[in-house]
Amino acid sequence: MTGRILIVDDRVANLGVLESKLASEYFDVTTATSGQKALDLVNQQPPDIILLDVMMPDMDGYQVCEILKKNPKTAHIPVIMVTALGELKDRIRGLQAGADEFLTKPVHDLQLLSRVRSLIRLKVLMDSLKIQRMASSGLGIPEEQLVAFPTDDQIHGVRMACLMEDDVLREKIESFLSVDKHNLSFFTSMDAFSKALDTRKYDMALVPLIFHGEETLRLCSQIRSSPVTRHLPIIMISQDLRENLLAKALDIGVNDYILEPIEPNEIRLRIRTQAKRLLYQKLLRLSHEKSMDLSLTDELTKLYNRRYFNAHLDALLQMESGQRRSSCLMIIDIDHFKSINDTFGHDQGDKVLVEMARLLQMSTRDSDLVARLGGEEFVVVVDNATLGTGLRIAERLRRAVENKVFSLIQGGTMTISISIGVTVSGTDKETFTRDQMIKAADVALYQAKHAGRNRTVVGYSEVAKAVAV
Ligand SMILES: [Mg+2]
Repeated sequence: MTGRILIVDDRVANLGVLESKLASEYFDVTTATSGQKALDLVNQQPPDIILLDVMMPDMDGYQVCEILKKNPKTAHIPVIMVTALGELKDRIRGLQAGADEFLTKPVHDLQLLSRVRSLIRLKVLMDSLKIQRMASSGLGIPEEQLVAFPTDDQIHGVRMACLMEDDVLREKIESFLSVDKHNLSFFTSMDAFSKALDTRKYDMALVPLIFHGEETLRLCSQIRSSPVTRHLPIIMISQDLRENLLAKALDIGVNDYILEPIEPNEIRLRIRTQAKRLLYQKLLRLSHEKSMDLSLTDELTKLYNRRYFNAHLDALLQMESGQRRSSCLMIIDIDHFKSINDTFGHDQGDKVLVEMARLLQMSTRDSDLVARLGGEEFVVVVDNATLGTGLRIAERLRRAVENKVFSLIQGGTMTISISIGVTVSGTDKETFTRDQMIKAADVALYQAKHAGRNRTVVGYSEVAKAVAV
């Protein structure tokens, strides 16, 4: 795993120590000797993770961290505070400033590397979600608002599953977390605990390392590898700093740990940090799904659009190539649609388009594709059909439209008709391309219009003609 790390420390000697440790693990390291320089570097090229010294002249680490976490563009970058201060109140101060982790000088190698790896893993996941979003907006989908990193007031009522065999610990946790009104559920056996997590009813897992050690790690590894709980944040509670087990835990994918004796503010803040990251991932996913939705469907009729139709037909043709099966494509155009708009207005025109979309959907199978190409033009793709079948279906659609009574917004009714060009995806010998099919159906549609409308005409691709000759 590689990643870009920014190290900030006012003492060059300290920078050198950390830089050489991380560079030898193939991380891409940059350094800054003051808070302001660090902020400038982050704005130029955001790193994947920041190691931040606390005690610095001019602007201290807490201030730098607060500025980073308040800026929506940098709030999601994990910050590890590196400090000579081992005091609890300093850790709390850092967590309040938004720090994700602490390392005490002199920095322990194993802790440093496992923390860095686990935070970079998280960052990589979040970045991939952001890239998906950018890709969809890059395709011409309207850019939505930047997804902001969640703030404290968005975090409440976190549903936590806690594995606790110890009543004393349980009571402590309950009283510490009572202020935040999270929903705590306690389980006394590993079995009941993992079954509960599989129900998808929890946002986070709290697991003690205390009694079972390796067995607990196996459990965490299972949680991480199950598709249901893959993204579930896990916080571990440990009695002491068991270097090897905790480093292993972070490598497995445990998100954070808290050492006993548990300090109430620390556990509250760490839970909140995890909850914010989880919410951020959810928001990014939702935003992506929403933009995908926009990118593939037609806003007015809710049918698939031309872009999706193209992708669908390509995939279908690829699947068919070399197989003795074919599909049919029909291009459907509403006759004299312009006069509907001209006579009754665009609202009426839109209403006809929406009703036409419903009618086409109702008259075809779920496995058939109905899409709107634009204007008054629709397509239907019938999977696994010969040209004969396609022609029958096209005629059925044409008659269904012919017989439907459309109601007018201003009262009264009207009837309309459609013209259809239909073609097939291949012969026994050959599969056509998307463009060949569309051209064949288009030519047929043109002939149907020319011959008086309200009819279906079969079109053959250029290749099909050549084969027929
Ligand atoms: Mg310093």
